[in-house]
Amino acid sequence: MTSATYIGRFAPSPTGPLHFGSLVCALASFLDARHQAGRWLVRIEDIDPPREISGATTTILRQLSDHGLTWDGELLYQSTRTEAYREAIAALQSAHLAYSCDCPRQRINSLGGIYDGYCRQRTVIENPAIRLQVPSESKAREPEATIKFDDLIMGHYMQNLCSEIGDFIIQRRDQLFSYQLAVVVDDRFQNISHIIRGADLIDSTPRQIFLQECLESLSGKHPAPTGSPLTSSPLTYGHLPMAINAEGQKLSKQNHAAALVAGKESQNLWLALQWLGQQPPDQLKNESISRILDWAISNWSLNAIPKQLAMPAPSHY
Ligand SMILES: [Zn+2]
Repeated sequence: MTSATYIGRFAPSPTGPLHFGSLVCALASFLDARHQAGRWLVRIEDIDPPREISGATTTILRQLSDHGLTWDGELLYQSTRTEAYREAIAALQSAHLAYSCDCPRQRINSLGGIYDGYCRQRTVIENPAIRLQVPSESKAREPEATIKFDDLIMGHYMQNLCSEIGDFIIQRRDQLFSYQLAVVVDDRFQNISHIIRGADLIDSTPRQIFLQECLESLSGKHPAPTGSPLTSSPLTYGHLPMAINAEGQKLSKQNHAAALVAGKESQNLWLALQWLGQQPPDQLKNESISRILDWAISNWSLNAIPKQLAMPAPSHY
């Protein structure tokens, strides 16, 4: 791996300040990139205005800088990428890989979370959502319905898109673009090679791999997704344990996770390294952030990260 080929990223949504759980994700993706002399990008995922908090982007960027997590190149704001998302959806629709769906919420709820493909053959006019078609039922037991990848931290992971997910939304009825679509379009656009993020997203990864394959097939770089088995991804993934609170909930703005305390950056970094299994020496705790990060880059070990989907955050977070 050389610096020319490793491109990692951290992609926060501006829904509130960074907390311990998001610091861990930022730090781990930063260290993995720097340890491999790679680039590390920051992308602001601001495509869901109702959930966003004014000023949160500024706060997040300041918190990253205060912790010494300096990114390469320009920031990418997803709010500027609408045209690219629209083009991707139009291309998927013309290739009959995606279709319009106007099923009422009641009908979708009655399906128990896995859409049955009802609108695949219908002509839908009224305010549709757009769904990506996953390999159909007749193929559910065949290799192409199952997406597999080897996670750098969690190990082998697989998911059957047909039986576990179903055709999924890439543009919502309110016209907002789905998280899955925007992430995949932008990871391609930014030539991301490595994604290190929280395990709360591991069950999204097969959908994202499938969507990548669909887009690759349109650009002629890859066989059509209904052809050869979908078993590999051009991207490498590592999913970190998710930081949870004493009640077992993911740390989040909604669960009132504490924002990182300004002025305690060295301690925050040390605690995050400890939590990630990196065993930072005690005396490092009171060093400058650059000394701590230098140590962490040199000693970074993915193998030392606990292979657990969730772990409690330190008590005061
Ligand atoms: Zn429908």
